[in-house]
Amino acid sequence: MRDVAGAWRRTAEGAGLLRTDPSGGGVVVGSTIFAEMTALAGRTGAINLGQGFPDEDGPAEVLEAARDAIARGANQYAPGPGIPELRQAIAEHQQRFYGLGHDPDGEVLVTTGATEALASALLALIDGPEDEVVVFEPYYDSYAACVALAGATLRTVPLRWPDFQPDLDELADAVTDRTRVILVNNPHNPTGTVFERRVLEEIVSLAHLHDAVVVSDEVYEHLTFDAPHLPVAALPGAAERTLTISSGGKTFRTTGWKIGWACGPAELITAVQTVKQFLTYTSGSPFQPAIAAGLRLPDAFFAGIAADMKRKSEILGEGLRAAGLAVSAPRGSYFTVADASSLGVADADAFCRGELAQAGVVAIPLTAFVTPERRAEYASLVRFAACKRTEVLDEAAARLAAYAR
Ligand code: PMP
Ligand code: GLN
Repeated sequence: MRDVAGAWRRTAEGAGLLRTDPSGGGVVVGSTIFAEMTALAGRTGAINLGQGFPDEDGPAEVLEAARDAIARGANQYAPGPGIPELRQAIAEHQQRFYGLGHDPDGEVLVTTGATEALASALLALIDGPEDEVVVFEPYYDSYAACVALAGATLRTVPLRWPDFQPDLDELADAVTDRTRVILVNNPHNPTGTVFERRVLEEIVSLAHLHDAVVVSDEVYEHLTFDAPHLPVAALPGAAERTLTISSGGKTFRTTGWKIGWACGPAELITAVQTVKQFLTYTSGSPFQPAIAAGLRLPDAFFAGIAADMKRKSEILGEGLRAAGLAVSAPRGSYFTVADASSLGVADADAFCRGELAQAGVVAIPLTAFVTPERRAEYASLVRFAACKRTEVLDEAAARLAAYAR
């Protein structure tokens, strides 16, 4: 068969998955770093602090609502934009937590996870290779892949150890009249940083100056440790050009349900919906009323998950420090970054695939989230996920300490 042409190759290349088979077998496509590291944990029996997914179920009411929806027959296609009840609950949620008003009919779209919202938004807003998308590096893996799939050019702004806040001059240099989208992720995966207000203000101001759209991925919005989350869209002048994306996966510990959403001005939502309907058409029917029930849970639930995540993050941080690693100070999300250079590690990728897994813990090298040109700057850094039961984190810490000795 002839070599299969198409955008897949560009996409795989954008994601850093395209390799040439050293034995001459042609092009090889790797799987995502998350799939790879979870498989490594499976093979070695190591504790999986690599792929970020919780090891406990979410709220019983939410799980029950999905079971109930299946029993009631919510098993056929949902309406394209999402069921009215969920769109209403999302609009209420944005008002309740952030004072943001959205018309559930036209300014809210339900998607198949935040992943689909991101992909649809980029495919919808990009016209061609002269369009640039500015992302903060290291970045969540699907960003570079989707920018490549959409055929745009990726421009990155580095976030540097240990606080991972962007330099505002570097940010201003990256955004130009070619910038179509500034893609923000806050709280940030993989670093756990929360952007300072002045960073968000600069993003909004640059978006105005260069007529760019802000796409803000806020899937960890309810997992902040020091202060309530501040959406970009809540800043003055931002709402009119911001698409806010989130998901029920992290908030309700239902990462397998793949219910996400986008909120924003009707014109942008129409653009995203136009693409979304040809990607998945609609999103999982019985999960939609369940996520609606979750979004309506009392404040105590949301405060509780933030406090729980903060505690887990602290337990993980202490364990890493006790094993002799320098650790960043995450302010939200599932993730903590550690510098393994104190253990003599110069190549965290080899370390994670080799000695660390042998020591019984799987984590992800930060180089998996950066462009090839910047790998050297992140070479000794490792991302650990704290979204696990405390006894699992304790056991991981014990294994790391034994390794370090
Ligand atoms: N964005 C970020 C920053 C993430 O960490 C994730 C991973 N869960 C996603 C998007 C994807 O979310 P979903 O599972 O809802 O598609
Ligand atoms: N968001 C999770 C992480 O960053 C997992 C996402 C995935 O497996 N695609 O670890």
